[in-house]
Amino acid sequence: MPDQSFDLVILGGGSGGYSAALRATELGMSVALIEKDKVGGTCLHRGCIPTKALLHAAEVADTAKDSAHYGIVSTFESVDIAGVTSYRTGIVAKKFKGLQSLLKARGVTTIDGAGRLTSGTTVQVGDSTITGKHVVLATGSYSRSLPGLELGGRVIDSEIALDLDHVPKKVAVLGGGVIGVEFASVWKSFGADVTIIEALPHLIPNEEESLSKALERAYRKRGINYSLGVRFQSVTQDDSGVVVTLENGKTIDAELLLVAVGRGPSTAGNGFEEAGVQLDRGFVAVNDRLETTVPGVYAVGDIVFGLQLAHRSFQQGIFVAEQIAGLNPAIVSDVNVPRITYCEPEVASVGLTEAKAVEQFGRDAVQAYDYSLAGNAKSEILDTAGSIKVVRVKDGPVVGVHGIGTRVGELIGEAQLVVNWEATPEDIAPYLHGHPTQYEALGEAFLALAGKPLHAL
Ligand SMILES: Cc1cc2nc3c(=O)[nH]c(=O)nc-3n(C[C@H](O)[C@H](O)[C@H](O)COP(=O)(O)OP(=O)(O)OC[C@H]3O[C@@H](n4cnc5c(N)ncnc54)[C@H](O)[C@@H]3O)c2cc1C
Repeated sequence: MPDQSFDLVILGGGSGGYSAALRATELGMSVALIEKDKVGGTCLHRGCIPTKALLHAAEVADTAKDSAHYGIVSTFESVDIAGVTSYRTGIVAKKFKGLQSLLKARGVTTIDGAGRLTSGTTVQVGDSTITGKHVVLATGSYSRSLPGLELGGRVIDSEIALDLDHVPKKVAVLGGGVIGVEFASVWKSFGADVTIIEALPHLIPNEEESLSKALERAYRKRGINYSLGVRFQSVTQDDSGVVVTLENGKTIDAELLLVAVGRGPSTAGNGFEEAGVQLDRGFVAVNDRLETTVPGVYAVGDIVFGLQLAHRSFQQGIFVAEQIAGLNPAIVSDVNVPRITYCEPEVASVGLTEAKAVEQFGRDAVQAYDYSLAGNAKSEILDTAGSIKVVRVKDGPVVGVHGIGTRVGELIGEAQLVVNWEATPEDIAPYLHGHPTQYEALGEAFLALAGKPLHAL
């Protein structure tokens, strides 16, 4: 491959890298997107898309098992994991093909190979030097483990878990965050006996505490076991399974241990520090406009400390392309990025928790309203419990929305607009919500906070 020059060179073709590429070509730049594996990255091939396909298959299994509740006679026989795999991989393959075509149609030059940053304007791929007036680093993340806990054999990460060719009979999940509770949800629906181990006092510990407690209740009802507030100590494995020991002496035996304790930034070995890019605990240090310590070099996505979510990476990719083009794009702070955990029941939130709002504005200045989905007709039809909690500043805007219940992930679109536009409940109370929908629950909470509740006291 010959040496080549572009307006923009992007290292890593995942959500952050390819969105920067697409926006930059729209803005008239020539773009090279360097990818060592497959464009689409973690989200498309190992993360969001395949796990959500699994969760949908799990929902179908639950629906088949519960069909009598709706007056439908059916028999749930078993999970055909080969069939589930073919459904999952089929979706990924279709989206991958679509993305490749889109990049081509937009005129992005995709370069296959591992790149290494060699200066503020150059990336080396094999023997070729790819030069850019600007460079974007978007090398993503990897599954972390705990000190002394080695992945291998029956101790697996999410990538191996995704590709299992069978449903484990009994599985332990280390970590009660998003990835851990999602896999626990799938495996339980598929018939496994599941135990989650979380060192902090609650599942999904970064969410509003009332959501964590509601999820714990729902999981208990589903028969998903969990050990909270106790740390992992060690694991042993042999041909028949694993034995996990916790610091309180309790042991859990299982067929597999999924390690889901978070993801580290893939920044080592890519030449970043040698080229002058400063790292901070492994993450690329950036200012609020995503500029690194080397002028002209930007970073986006999971290598930037904060929420590791695909849509944050998309937004940062677009932001950086617009920043380079001199458009002065708006900064979206992490707290206002929507967060969804796609387990059953789903959990969705945006903005400040009530506790954080009180910390920021003072107890007397914060008002919250928790609308139970028991009052929402569509949720009754779907047979889901849950709630939508809206947090506002008194006489001021909505600063947080937090929900739990089947399918509530779909409600966060409206919620994130309200929070990011700093709307007050009075501003939005007059706008309508289709009936019967689950998003009426949001409307009810806004009406209540505006002092005119409809289906609530
Ligand atoms: C199991 C799981 C489920 C998830 N579910 C969700 C979800 O439902 N919703 C959500 O928003 N997020 C989800 N995520 C997180 C989401 O996948 C990431 O936040 C997102 O993919 C980050 O995008 P990125 O561009 O920063 O990195 P990545 O998508 O990891 O892309 C980085 C790319 O860079 C390439 N690369 C790395 N180094 C080099 C190099 N030296 N040269 C060339 N190429 C290189 C890699 O091959 C990779 O393709 C999930 C993650 C996991 C693991």
